[in-house]
Amino acid sequence: MDALLPALLDGLARLPGELFSHPLDPGRRLYWAFLLSSVVLALAVVMWRNHSMQLRPVLRACLDRQYWRQTSHLVDLALLGLNGFIRLTLLVPLLGSHLLATIWVARGWQSTLGNAPELNWHWSVVALLYTSVFFIAEDYSRFALHRCMHRVPFLWRMHRVHHGATVLSPLTLYRVHPLEMSVYYLRSLAVFGLVSGTFVYLFGRQLSGFDILGVDALGFLFNLLGANLRHSPVWLSFGPLERWLVSPAQHQLHHSADPLHRDINFGTCLALWDRLGGSWLPAGAPRALRFGLTEGVSTAPIKPAGLASTA
Ligand SMILES: [Zn+2]
Ligand SMILES: [Zn+2]
Repeated sequence: MDALLPALLDGLARLPGELFSHPLDPGRRLYWAFLLSSVVLALAVVMWRNHSMQLRPVLRACLDRQYWRQTSHLVDLALLGLNGFIRLTLLVPLLGSHLLATIWVARGWQSTLGNAPELNWHWSVVALLYTSVFFIAEDYSRFALHRCMHRVPFLWRMHRVHHGATVLSPLTLYRVHPLEMSVYYLRSLAVFGLVSGTFVYLFGRQLSGFDILGVDALGFLFNLLGANLRHSPVWLSFGPLERWLVSPAQHQLHHSADPLHRDINFGTCLALWDRLGGSWLPAGAPRALRFGLTEGVSTAPIKPAGLASTA
């Protein structure tokens, strides 16, 4: 108990740094380059849809007062702060870091199986294998946990906080119940530790994957492809690639309050899991959506005029 107060005060002192690190950290969705690429893509989509190269109506739509005055944005922001605080004061100190999880798994294999077999594979083969296995394990585990969040009543009670957003902005990604954030942190620790620890055991500490600015290359590219538009009113579909990649528009359908869109598109990057699980719905034609929980949502879509899903 004596250690609790200093830990809380330390967490509070580090919170502003944690929040301001988002736009500077390539490992986060709000990294400046990902925000910039999303803005560029959004402008391109809206200009193409309006058959106009004029910037003024687009900027007017971006600054739409009705959109930005929604209290839903404040809830997103408050949960971003609260979850950052919980991460700093509880999760990392209690559950440990990803590096510790890796070491723990590698040592576990060593003590259970003895020395790893001699594998003199070229570094590029190992890097390609590690990057691919990590990406697939990360993406599938996110899909599986997200689907459980919808199907298990106890988990849905937490996850409905995310779906309570009646307007979507990139901050909505962080609008999650603190318990859900903790469960996802555990998932990420388990997947990273298991994959990296196993590869470290097999190929030694010199293991490297393909990365960009220190971030898994495939995840980085996905974020660069407008991942921030998943939580936004801008309708971006990937056309024929929708069968393989989850587009921002597909995730917007996931947030739709229309009962016809219930329990679809749980995936993050790959659409394959939803297709195999029978929960895949391609974006189709641009359309207006109401976001939020099915019960008690507003009757009209709240979106900046000119930016949104209407064709
Ligand atoms: Zn969901
Ligand atoms: Zn979402």
